[in-house]
Amino acid sequence: MPPETLASFVVLGRVDNRPTNVCAAWIDSADRICGKPAPEPWLCRRHVTVATKRAEAYIIREADRQERAKTRRIERAPKLRARLATVEARIRQLDPPSRDDGAVINMPLARRMPTDNQIAELAQLVHERDRLRAEVGS
Ligand SMILES: [Zn+2]
Repeated sequence: MPPETLASFVVLGRVDNRPTNVCAAWIDSADRICGKPAPEPWLCRRHVTVATKRAEAYIIREADRQERAKTRRIERAPKLRARLATVEARIRQLDPPSRDDGAVINMPLARRMPTDNQIAELAQLVHERDRLRAEVGS
């Protein structure tokens, strides 16, 4: 872990312009930074320990979170695919046939021209379809 990242677990704000040989860890109870000599960049010995513990706890929490998110995605996939199929079917229904499609010529004008509502619905459906596709990874 880069020293900036480790320090970020105990330092308030960014370490950018702070001297690396002084501990920049924030001590909440004292309402000030530590200020002890820092053998590691921005961290005294005690705060290296504190930062390391917090970093480890964070990594475990983050792994848990990702595992839960993955499980949720897998559980939701069938529902998302079903919704995607519905959305795609409705898009085919709304999207007027192209000029290359002979059927359009014989269709009454009123059916060829989508209404404003249909155009709005189509735009929203295309947006939803793209989002669903990205989510199910198809
Ligand atoms: Zn310190």
